[in-house]
Amino acid sequence: MNATPTDPFFQPSYGVSRESLLEAARGLAPRLDVTIDSRSISERGPEGETLALDFMIFGARRPRHALVLSSGTHGVEGYTGSAIQHYVARRVLPRLGLGNDTAIVLQHANNPYGFAWNRRVNEGNVDFNRNFRESFDTSQVSADYERLYEVLNPLDLDPEREARRWAAAQRFIEETSQRHFQQVAIEGQYKYPQGMQFGGHVRQPGARHLLALVREHLAETSTVIWLDFHTGLGEFGACELITGAAAGSASHQFSQEVWNGAVKSASSGESLSTPLNGLLDRGIEAALPAPCRFAFAYPEFGTYPQERVIRAIRADNWLHAHGDRDDATGRAISAELLEALRPNDARWRRMIVEKGAQLVDQALAHLPGVRRRGGS
Ligand SMILES: [Zn+2]
Repeated sequence: MNATPTDPFFQPSYGVSRESLLEAARGLAPRLDVTIDSRSISERGPEGETLALDFMIFGARRPRHALVLSSGTHGVEGYTGSAIQHYVARRVLPRLGLGNDTAIVLQHANNPYGFAWNRRVNEGNVDFNRNFRESFDTSQVSADYERLYEVLNPLDLDPEREARRWAAAQRFIEETSQRHFQQVAIEGQYKYPQGMQFGGHVRQPGARHLLALVREHLAETSTVIWLDFHTGLGEFGACELITGAAAGSASHQFSQEVWNGAVKSASSGESLSTPLNGLLDRGIEAALPAPCRFAFAYPEFGTYPQERVIRAIRADNWLHAHGDRDDATGRAISAELLEALRPNDARWRRMIVEKGAQLVDQALAHLPGVRRRGGS
């Protein structure tokens, strides 16, 4: 069941993924115009490497029509999104002809710190996908998050106290529902910087970079189709397409057109994901020129049962607030977070790349100015 070393698209680290994708991008230059805009953050990776958002534009420098594929919004989930980007760079772009007004963009690592350090959150313990807000209310938190604060954010991992906390979580689920517990745990809170699902007190450097890249490079677009890849929600290897746009909105309707009616609105309660605060797609839509048609989906690739994933995220949050990532407990928690969000399973990886390729195909079919060469 283990992934083979020959797995061609999943990369061993953020640094290797970044370097090899940049190299593949430069290698496409004889066929396509290539523009690369890299914006670094101040932190470094575990090998001292630069951490950056790399916006790689293939085709028109000032596109009217663009397909954007982004990875690593939730750091460590970037192994999966980047695998699809590596697939596109090697298998799709070499065969593509693009009209003068059309571009394909690979945005590598929205949250490069989390990707490099195997965390879901960024350098400020912020869930990057709760940070796209115009203003931040530092008292914003639900009454139920407050009630479950110690269950979600334990001070220790003492087995007896942990058993009591999980029993309290179980009682909460029985009183309300599993779905409500999920919502409380993951919707985003703005009060506790050390707590799970902290959305930030200010817009994060990576979010500022991403919005600036969109404003600068996509300022003249009239069509933008965007996929931002995620893992950890749903059945093993399954894919659900989620958007933050309200059901029935123009963006949701265009997304439905592109992906054949499969896009579910989180804000309208249709998706596996419950409604969430401060989503990236809401920030991007606001940064695009007003008349632009915008189709967007977060493909969520399922890994393990939800309780295992939430436990892994919770333990990682404890580790960074109270533990030592270099001791045995810390290493085990980091390894479990990686497995929970990037299964070491060749079949899973194959399914994900195949599904990603299909989603990209559907997007290309709806993007003006795309010609296929040499078959598909
Ligand atoms: Zn995610």
